[in-house]
Amino acid sequence: MINEIIENLEAIVGEKWVDTDPERVRSYSLESTNDNYSMVAPEPVAGSVIVKAADSEEIADILKFANKEKINVIARGAGTALSANTIPDQESIILSLERMDKIIEVDEENMLLKAEAAVSLGDIIEELKSSDHLYFPLHPGDEGAQVGGMAAMNAGGVRAVKHGIMRNQILGMEVVLPTGEIVHYGGSIGKLLKNNAGYDLMQLLIGSEGTLGVITEVSLKLYPEPEANGTLIVAFNDRKDAFAAVPAILKRGIIPMALEYVEKDEIQLAAADIGKKWPAEQGEYFLIIMLSEAKEDDLFEIGARIDQITAEFNPVEMLIAQSISERKDILDIRSHILPAISDKFVDSPDVTVPRGSLLEYLEKLTEIEEKYNTKCPVIAHAGDGNLHVLILKDEGAKPSYFEEIKKDIYQSAVDMGGTITGEHGIGKLRQDYLPMMYSERELEIMKQIKNIFDPNNILNAGKSI
Ligand SMILES: Cc1cc2nc3c(=O)[nH]c(=O)nc-3n(C[C@H](O)[C@H](O)[C@H](O)COP(=O)(O)OP(=O)(O)OC[C@H]3O[C@@H](n4cnc5c(N)ncnc54)[C@H](O)[C@@H]3O)c2cc1C
Repeated sequence: MINEIIENLEAIVGEKWVDTDPERVRSYSLESTNDNYSMVAPEPVAGSVIVKAADSEEIADILKFANKEKINVIARGAGTALSANTIPDQESIILSLERMDKIIEVDEENMLLKAEAAVSLGDIIEELKSSDHLYFPLHPGDEGAQVGGMAAMNAGGVRAVKHGIMRNQILGMEVVLPTGEIVHYGGSIGKLLKNNAGYDLMQLLIGSEGTLGVITEVSLKLYPEPEANGTLIVAFNDRKDAFAAVPAILKRGIIPMALEYVEKDEIQLAAADIGKKWPAEQGEYFLIIMLSEAKEDDLFEIGARIDQITAEFNPVEMLIAQSISERKDILDIRSHILPAISDKFVDSPDVTVPRGSLLEYLEKLTEIEEKYNTKCPVIAHAGDGNLHVLILKDEGAKPSYFEEIKKDIYQSAVDMGGTITGEHGIGKLRQDYLPMMYSERELEIMKQIKNIFDPNNILNAGKSI
């Protein structure tokens, strides 16, 4: 970055908040994709500058300046993205939101929490411990993820079956447009449950992967904390049985908080890696069913019904964890799978299919495994039809069939009315597969929308669509 640019940025945020140190710039240029998918993650282009803004006004000034000079800007949350969403592929202003980390209010009457962009999921969990029994259900695996990043990625995670994903939790947002205007969505104070005035640009911003605006504030829906919580683990010896049990549970009116699918090797490695023990003694494939009910009686009744329903699918063991520490251990182990096994696989497409097609997808996946003479372990947010299919390394290296198998994994999902990504977005890693999902005209409309928001293409240019 040339000196004049640095000086201009310093004039906006102060000298202390502009950083060109190559080592720190590199660490702000890497994200979880580099840790977990190192064989496919792009190397960041060097030469970017980190800028840490204090508020929306400073962000507006940075974006106006970047527009004038046509410099790419990448909004940076916690860097836990998994599709090369934040990695610079050109010299960029890395706009870190980290100074904007205040919880603005917990509005108990309106049951919402309003936070600046850099408040993390962990901060929210902590803050709500002192509320009047309110809680935020969503739990994408890394509690360091920030609300701005979670909104920009439309994050999901394990606890999305009952209340939905990020898009269903956001009541309002403050956003700085790429051209520098500050706008408010969801009413001027972001507290509306309904708003039918005009096009819903807030929903367009959610999941836009930092390409349409910089999110500076988010209002999140809160829910009354359920009094009775329990986690069931049902073990199976055949993964088809585990998958077949999923729609059977849901169609009988049981809506758990989470309905996850995991396999023995991965879950045991994750447990060992954090010094815990996976509680199930038997079985190769597991459903983790997190229940949250108003009363303890309901919890036991639903637990008994799940026992009855899953009995039709040849379970070999069923466990119930009721204490807070047992339940937390299971969630922690589940959340740790990805880092624990990152040296074993190359990539993990997060395809999603209609929930009723889970078993059909699994059958297709078995054919793919046979075609390439490999195994593809699966970790799934099964209750959402969202599968993370692991493409394993071959003797420590990227397998020769890597591109072909990846394409088959995506195409099979799309063929059954599914999508190439249910959570991790397009970023840089999944761009080649977008035409599987959309016609030329549909992609062109998306590009035109980008152009309306960002006529000079300065915000996370070249990522997502
Ligand atoms: C171990 C692990 C488990 C995970 N599990 C899940 C999971 O279960 N479900 C799931 O959905 N995701 C999961 N993720 C992915 C990741 O946590 C989410 O995508 C998260 O929402 C990213 O938040 P972040 O703050 O880290 O954003 P970053 O990684 O910093 O940024 C992600 C994208 O959002 C943009 N962005 C960031 N902040 C802003 C902002 N304020 N305004 C505009 N754009 C912004 C960036 O430019 C980038 O394009 C997991 C990641 C890890 C490492």
